[in-house]
Amino acid sequence: MNAIHDLQAVPRDVPAALLDALSARFGERFSQSVAVREHHGKDESPYATMPPDAVVFPESTEEVSAVAALCNAHRVPLIAYGAGSSLEGNFLAIHGGVVVDLSRMDRIVAVHPDDLTVTVQAGVTRKRLNEEIRDTGLFFPIDPGADASLGGMCATRASGTNAVRYGTMRENVVNLTVVAADGSIVRTARRARKSSAGYDLTRLYVGSEGTLGIITEATLRLYPQPEAVSAAVCAFATVDDAVRSVIQIIQLGVPVARVELMDANAVKAVNLYSKLGLRESPMLLFEFHGSPAGVKEQAELVQEITAEHGGQDFAWADKPEDRSRLWAARHNAYFSGLQLRPGCKASSTDVCVPISRLADCIGETTADLAHVSFPTIIVGHVGDGNFHVQMLLDPDSVAEYEEAEAFNRRIVERALAMDGTCTGEHGVGLHKMQFMAQEHGDEGVAVMRQLKRALDPNNILNPGKIVAWDA
Ligand SMILES: Cc1cc2nc3c(=O)[nH]c(=O)nc-3n(C[C@H](O)[C@H](O)[C@H](O)COP(=O)(O)OP(=O)(O)OC[C@H]3O[C@@H](n4cnc5c(N)ncnc54)[C@H](O)[C@@H]3O)c2cc1C
Repeated sequence: MNAIHDLQAVPRDVPAALLDALSARFGERFSQSVAVREHHGKDESPYATMPPDAVVFPESTEEVSAVAALCNAHRVPLIAYGAGSSLEGNFLAIHGGVVVDLSRMDRIVAVHPDDLTVTVQAGVTRKRLNEEIRDTGLFFPIDPGADASLGGMCATRASGTNAVRYGTMRENVVNLTVVAADGSIVRTARRARKSSAGYDLTRLYVGSEGTLGIITEATLRLYPQPEAVSAAVCAFATVDDAVRSVIQIIQLGVPVARVELMDANAVKAVNLYSKLGLRESPMLLFEFHGSPAGVKEQAELVQEITAEHGGQDFAWADKPEDRSRLWAARHNAYFSGLQLRPGCKASSTDVCVPISRLADCIGETTADLAHVSFPTIIVGHVGDGNFHVQMLLDPDSVAEYEEAEAFNRRIVERALAMDGTCTGEHGVGLHKMQFMAQEHGDEGVAVMRQLKRALDPNNILNPGKIVAWDA
């Protein structure tokens, strides 16, 4: 069931021979210190810390391959770690083992501006990539808010605020270099923009959360920096008015680059945390990319649509510093929410539904929230049909955790009934495993289990995540 409050780690034995071999090979880049292990056994989810037995810091694909071969020979869990910003217990060492921290694999291997691609090692973070390529006039758009590693973003099939225009990691990974469970090194595709050459191994590994292989390099798509960028905020009397505006904007095909929802509690939280003076009612944040004329046209159309739905105070943020302040506040919504209840732990839902059902899903969820006993905020990448309820929980109250889990179950069942998904972007980790059969059917889960067993026969790669080993 993987309930947050009572899940216990069940470590496997880790032979001293393996630890000695890793220590001999990696020297100072091998650690068994409590602080390092605990740091790598704790993510942003409310699960308890589940530390691995050891952490290694490889610097090349060949070093990752050597660690995998050793762990496989000793049947010891091997868990990839990027920047540690997961929200669903994705890398927690529920069976102990060895973590490979990829942060030292931080080289930008090759930029191909003429092809609009870049090849990076897995530990490069998205912010650093954009700083390094700024002079080329190109940028990488996927933006999960946290300064995640690009390997971790591939592994969770991440998206975020820009996905409504540029897609998710699924659409933006050209090829991967992956270390398989036995240490063999696989390149999933060439650099051509498209290919029909066999099974799509790239997309098999994108979203596999380290359970099928360890990504050591990725070739990603880049985009020209837009000639003009403009941002705006618009307040509404109700969340429903805001959501119905978004549905119409998307259905009319307006190519907005970002459209984010914050409910009144979320706006209150970002006002407190980021010292903004936004009106404390449901709000949409927009960003438009394109030529100056295109941006103007999109913005006028959006302003008209929001006005039809009672949108008020359509306010522009044209200066780059104003835009940065606004988006920094949105990205800090998670941490702002925590300030509404000092000392709390957050648990976040992540459902995503077809856009035509978004107003129903958020409407029913808002009605449901009237009956929960803890504070919440709603934020959402609503252009994609994806939204999060951040539940602010008393870490010492089992009753609140149980209530939150019951709410989470209801919201997932609501989304599934609307042909949606239990997770739009955070991944399955430990927390969403309980919904996999409901979402994919027993047959779908059985195919996933067959894949896992074929590619990782000793169950060493991030074991206990996504699908259970035994039916
Ligand atoms: C405040 C906040 C806001 C967020 N907002 C968003 C959002 O808008 N959109 C979104 O998509 N996510 C969001 N996230 C979640 C998180 O940032 C993403 O899941 C991100 O992709 C994780 O990257 P990471 O480098 O931190 O990976 P980690 O947390 O280190 O790892 C994530 C998973 O991938 C595996 N993994 C990591 N690196 C590799 C690798 N090289 N090869 C194979 N497996 C690997 C790990 O084992 C684990 O299962 C948010 C998180 C926070 C804290």
